[in-house]
Amino acid sequence: MLRTFSIIGNPNSGKTTVFNALTGLKQKVGNYPGVTVEKKEGKFILPNGDVANLVDLPGTYSLTAFSPDEKIATDVLLNHINSSSKFEAILCVVDASNIERNLFLLSQIIDLNIPCVVVLNMVDVALKSGITIDEDKLSKQLGVPVVKTIAQSKLGIDKLKETLQNHIFPSKNLRKWKIDSVLQKEHSEISQILQKNNLDESSAFHEATQLLSMPTEELLIHPWLTVDLIKIIRKKHEKLDFLEIDRGSAFINSRYDWIKLVCDISVKKKFTEIKNLSDKVDRILTHKFFGFIFFFGIMTFMFQIMFSWVTIPMNWINLFFNFLGTEISKILPSGQIESLVVDGIIGGVGAVISFLPQIVFLFLFLGILEDSGYMARAAFIMDKVMSKVGLHGKSFIPLLSSFACAIPGIMATRTIENEKDRITTMMIAPLMSCSARIPVYTLMIGAFIPNNSIFGIISLPALILVSLYMLGLLAALVFGFIFKKTLLKGATPLFLIELPQYKMPSLRTLFQIMWERSIIFLKRAGTFILAVSIVLWFLASYPKIENANPSEQLEKSFAGKIGKFIEPSIAPLGFDWKIGIGLVTSILQREVFVSTMGTIYNIEDDSNSSLGEKMRTEINQQTGKPSFSILTAICLLVYYVLAMQCLSTIAVMKRETNGWKWPAIQFSYMTLLAYFVTFLVYRIGVLI
Ligand code: GDP
Ligand code: MG
Repeated sequence: MLRTFSIIGNPNSGKTTVFNALTGLKQKVGNYPGVTVEKKEGKFILPNGDVANLVDLPGTYSLTAFSPDEKIATDVLLNHINSSSKFEAILCVVDASNIERNLFLLSQIIDLNIPCVVVLNMVDVALKSGITIDEDKLSKQLGVPVVKTIAQSKLGIDKLKETLQNHIFPSKNLRKWKIDSVLQKEHSEISQILQKNNLDESSAFHEATQLLSMPTEELLIHPWLTVDLIKIIRKKHEKLDFLEIDRGSAFINSRYDWIKLVCDISVKKKFTEIKNLSDKVDRILTHKFFGFIFFFGIMTFMFQIMFSWVTIPMNWINLFFNFLGTEISKILPSGQIESLVVDGIIGGVGAVISFLPQIVFLFLFLGILEDSGYMARAAFIMDKVMSKVGLHGKSFIPLLSSFACAIPGIMATRTIENEKDRITTMMIAPLMSCSARIPVYTLMIGAFIPNNSIFGIISLPALILVSLYMLGLLAALVFGFIFKKTLLKGATPLFLIELPQYKMPSLRTLFQIMWERSIIFLKRAGTFILAVSIVLWFLASYPKIENANPSEQLEKSFAGKIGKFIEPSIAPLGFDWKIGIGLVTSILQREVFVSTMGTIYNIEDDSNSSLGEKMRTEINQQTGKPSFSILTAICLLVYYVLAMQCLSTIAVMKRETNGWKWPAIQFSYMTLLAYFVTFLVYRIGVLI
């Protein structure tokens, strides 16, 4: 017999961690709201050998919330009541360090009569901030089983499995909170009418609460209310409003009154040093001036390391590929096959793979910021900036995820309830510098920007890299503003973010993130980039020209012709036909630019120097000057900050917006923006 359970809880309460601890799967966890936006399923074994099915739902603070991801959770629960595909019980994950707010959702679940177990998670965090909870007393007060866990260390998980196996879930929970006496009569009248309309007692109770607390205008857009019902409810609204009863918060207050009673009996709090310290730290990190200083400081620090220590393992990888190329040339007879393997494959794929250390490091660093709880602070300080643009801090979280990759960023917009704000956020997410841009950034910076330092501490390459990230962010804010004023007009929404407790980042989580990212990166290099490199090698080596030197050969090849063909349109940006080839191939995926350059320059130049050196020392045959100047490098960087250049993003945009309209607008505006700004930079650069 397959038993089914489902997990629900507030964002960031540790649901996914509990899910992973039970099932042994590795779903992504994160120390800020909005990481799980779809429902995920897995299996686990109960102590008696039964197999159980487990569904992880996105977090929600209540069953009356309406952002797309919160709605997934609410729908599953409400459907549970009517549908045949029942689960046996719900695991309600409660963050022990924030118990009052977390019990709100639980009280709604109890109302709906859904059998449940409370997973009292994060007891370690609670303890550190001086909160101890008596689980027996709590269980008695709530009328449902309570199991303490520290999901991250898998503590309490066995007990949880045992409880799930042995507990006989009652078909009826005991609803213990009391509706305010003024509202009681109206509430039970509506509830009774609804029950006559075939709702069961608990759904009718839940629905009556909703109907009484919603704004009167919204009754008209309610999905299934009849005209008669609307009339009755409107009467009640009028009466209560006349009595000056705040319908919106009356039920919420009553629930909290009950929660307070429960906690008075089962929770002990004492004020501790740690809580005090964390508040003091927050006063600086969320300060409207020092907060930003810290944010930029930490980003600069990150890039600084990227250009110093991280270049060491990168050189090892380069040396390895050089060695591999030389050895293979020795084995293979010299000719076309040798050229394909050494120039095409090793040149292209190797050029990209050498950036693996930087990508791993980026994810390590972002992972630490995220898991320690700092990212939520970053979102908090950015809210002030975002609200000037007409968006709120909730939009900043998808933008932060887009530093890694725009695709999870776009998925994370599902936490935004307003459709227009959601689309605006998706439209600007790809402007944030993702990890696929890093190979392009560091190739160009490494080759052309001198490694000087400013004020003796900040290195010039790091500073340029920070500027590129800031340029992307700035462009995102400007275009967010433009979209909110034009195509996606709407009011600035209100923002509430809760700041999670600071904690030591978990090594397991960090390794998991780095591992997954490396695999994704290597897979792309081994499949897609490999294929493109082979095709490109062919295009760059044929047709064969008699007695031509390598650069003439390249110029007259198919690839050369393509580059020459688009050269007139990119010449105003200071780009020549070789860069043109890279721009065309990297429309698929940004790092293809690097593999393209790797292949082309390997075909042209047999020496063992690095790709960056080859680019730097190349002389343009016609002008006799170096092909690349610092200005060309900067223009290219600006272009890659702003241009779309990613097929997968387009595909995800189409899926998330259900059509081609928004991806088409996005691709056009970003490409035009990139062209225009690069043109400006080039012109100004030439003048200087
Ligand atoms: P979700 O949003 O509810 O799915 O929460 P996650 O499972 O993503 O967890 C949020 C954060 O809390 C992650 O950084 C977890 O590593 C961390 N976490 C989860 N459970 C515990 C716990 O019991 N103790 C501590 N200290 N951290 C936890
Ligand atoms: Mg989650």
